[in-house]
Amino acid sequence: MTDTHTTPPKSARSDLRFIIIGAGMSGILSAIKLREAGLDFAIYEKADRLGGTWRENTYAGITCDVPSHFYSFSFALNPDWSRQFSPGAEIQTYFEDVAQRYKIAEEIQFGKEVTGAAFENGRWQIELSDGSTDVGDFLIAATGVLHHPAYPAIEGLDEFEGPTFHSARWHHDVSLAGKRVGLIGTGSTAIQITSAVIDEVQGLSVFQRTAQWIMPVPNADFSNEERAEFRRNPESMQTLRDQVNRSFTDGFANVLGDAESPIIRAIHDACEANLENSVKDPELREKLRPNYRAACKRLIMSGDFYDAIQRPNASLVTERIERAEKSGLRTQDGTLHELDVLILATGFRVDQFVRPMQVRGRSGVLLDEAWRQGPFAYMSMMVPEFPNFFMLNGPNSPVGNFSLIEVAELQFEYVLRVVDQVRSGTCREISPSREAMERFDAERRKAAETTIWNTGCNSWYLDAEGLPTAWPFTFDRFREEMGRPCLEDHDLR
Ligand code: NAP
Repeated sequence: MTDTHTTPPKSARSDLRFIIIGAGMSGILSAIKLREAGLDFAIYEKADRLGGTWRENTYAGITCDVPSHFYSFSFALNPDWSRQFSPGAEIQTYFEDVAQRYKIAEEIQFGKEVTGAAFENGRWQIELSDGSTDVGDFLIAATGVLHHPAYPAIEGLDEFEGPTFHSARWHHDVSLAGKRVGLIGTGSTAIQITSAVIDEVQGLSVFQRTAQWIMPVPNADFSNEERAEFRRNPESMQTLRDQVNRSFTDGFANVLGDAESPIIRAIHDACEANLENSVKDPELREKLRPNYRAACKRLIMSGDFYDAIQRPNASLVTERIERAEKSGLRTQDGTLHELDVLILATGFRVDQFVRPMQVRGRSGVLLDEAWRQGPFAYMSMMVPEFPNFFMLNGPNSPVGNFSLIEVAELQFEYVLRVVDQVRSGTCREISPSREAMERFDAERRKAAETTIWNTGCNSWYLDAEGLPTAWPFTFDRFREEMGRPCLEDHDLR
């Protein structure tokens, strides 16, 4: 196919229009930043409420395991966080509050799902679920990573007679009090659910396929005095955010690419000591001991899981699930685990990104087609032949145990710098060149080999070939790259 549109003459542009898809954290960020830059935008949200992952995940015990003052917009610090690691509902309220304060909430078009986007005649033509259309010069996919629940393929799951639901589709009308509850999974979600429900259930059977390393992280309340001080002296909040940012960068994100780093080894030792010191029964301790290195899977932060799983009403089931039956789950050793409620904390399909939306780039090429071998993005955001298109927290972004708000803010700096090329009239269309994409991807793949994620465990960080997909370089390099886009790597038309 050939590109049929003729490029109009280039001149400075003051009429650029942006289409933002999604009103979660990164959609709200985009709207705020575009308004600040004096740029016009429309923001579409398929649900009836903003908040993205924090709107959708309302499971018992939901907490963000990134410190709250770091999991905040840098420009909207919040003196009122209740704890070091705040509960999900508080984070949802924070985003709603920020969207109100920055007058973004009133711009969001709710109940409108973008079903298709095509780059035609130099602009993005958008189709929405209600049959309406829109047009923009730039398309920003702020559609999230952990968005599409993954359901386990367990035989007979429909036959189980009790309520069954995914952690991201929590059934608040189902009381767990006094019930025999089955929980499948031992990821960050299941660990939080375990600690949250153990006191109210009659019995909790945690079905563990793979053991997890757990960092002991206490979750202290901020006292009234501390919060008053944050309000009186916002500088102190800024200092705290900077400190946490630096320690997460140096003490974690910068070293993930080097599996042999002493810091990674120290994290492993801390997790191992936590297991040794916290779990008394040697048999249970061995069941909980992973056979891979700490931080290979996403590291779990919890100060109370080991306590919860040692309660008399908790049981850790390590036998494989064979099938579901009317009254519970049968494991391969023949045991029927009788249950009243079944919770699937089985994670998300992380290779979807903007899909199922159909995105067509130059000459009608489908993103699905470009991603036939799996999703990729130049510098974690852009795809060749998809001009003026950005994904926030998209493929190859730094996603592990870090503030995705910080990631999205840095990515947006890049977006604005690239947009400047169009704004100033240097070009009308910008996308990474194929050569730059290939170079970036080859370097990324090579670097992925030495990451801690590639040391012999299975996780959602891996692609279909088993190679880690997340940003494998240091986080400092990510900051640098976001701060200075290399124009030579882009195809400007
Ligand atoms: P996850 O980390 O993908 O964990 C899914 C769990 O389900 C794993 O233990 C997995 O076992 C198990 N599982 C999946 N299919 C199964 C099957 N068919 N049979 C038995 N077990 C099965 O999902 P998640 O816990 O929802 O967490 C996903 C991500 O969300 C996290 O990594 C994190 O990025 C984010 N999150 C963040 C927070 C936070 O506080 N910031 C909290 C929760 C979640 P295997 O390990 O064997 O695959």
